[in-house]
Amino acid sequence: MTMATPALDKLAAAPEELLARLFTPMNVDGVYGRTGAYEDVVEGLGRYISTLRPKGAEVFRFPPVVSRTLIEKSGYLKSFPHLLGCVCALGTDVKRVTEAVARYEAGGSWTDSAQASELVLAPAACYPVYPIAAERGVIGAEPLMFDVASDCFRREPSKEIDRFQSFRMREFVAIGAPQQIQAFRDQWMARAPEIAADLGVTHAIDAASDPFFGREGQMVGRFQTANALKFEMLIPVRSTEKPTACMSFNCHRDHFGEVWGMKTADGELAHTACVAFGIDRLAVALFARHGVEVGGWPAPVRAKLGL
Ligand code: 5GP
Ligand code: ZN
Repeated sequence: MTMATPALDKLAAAPEELLARLFTPMNVDGVYGRTGAYEDVVEGLGRYISTLRPKGAEVFRFPPVVSRTLIEKSGYLKSFPHLLGCVCALGTDVKRVTEAVARYEAGGSWTDSAQASELVLAPAACYPVYPIAAERGVIGAEPLMFDVASDCFRREPSKEIDRFQSFRMREFVAIGAPQQIQAFRDQWMARAPEIAADLGVTHAIDAASDPFFGREGQMVGRFQTANALKFEMLIPVRSTEKPTACMSFNCHRDHFGEVWGMKTADGELAHTACVAFGIDRLAVALFARHGVEVGGWPAPVRAKLGL
């Protein structure tokens, strides 16, 4: 039996239903166990996105943790210190460990004794790829292309269905000369309607800025919007009136070129861009639009996802 497809301006499932049917609580806001039915769709999205992979793109799947110095050097701490999570541990010092555990057992906190490690939680999938690309030396006539993914963490506890502290991100990244990179980004924005049609969702493209920290950060955000550096694909998840950013199209100009010393053949700093697929938001958007039973989804959408 197939469900009637709801009108384009209507969602088939409300946030409460999505939360109850697709996830199981883990007693932390924005952190959930995921059901098998949900993961099937996540895998389907992975397959679908692979069909979009830019020709010649090199694939990397990164772990959910990244070198702290890499993220520091990338400028993340200056821009988004409020979102970053650091891995802390007690280490092996017997006295410190024993004291910390005893304090916990007496009702206190063991974490007071924990020390920051050399790891942070990955805030986006693309950061590790720039130093890898830089190792390759001068960039040739064609831009370097990568397909990367990782579990990401951002310290934004929320009860909303479209804001997780821990979520998955897939990205296509290009590194090359300024015009090539601008073209890459613009090409992907132009493909947004095709992607939305494949997924059977309504969408809008909007200029956006990243959530930079503090007053100075707000100025950086305005600069980003004014220079059209970031766009987002918005898809209804919680409501049709306030759609959610499920993909982003980002130009970093020469930021990572400068940080990692990446140059093009003519000696200019390389430019970089990334196209990010918010896998969990896309998956939730699909369920919100087509309903919690995948069997009732439109056949063309299921076919695109291999479901
Ligand atoms: P950006 O780097 O543009 O902020 O994030 C890239 C994509 O990751 C976003 O377009 C969005 O789809 C996804 N994303 C960002 N923050 C969250 C979040 O808090 N929860 C979920 N589920 N996805 C997010
Ligand atoms: Zn990126």
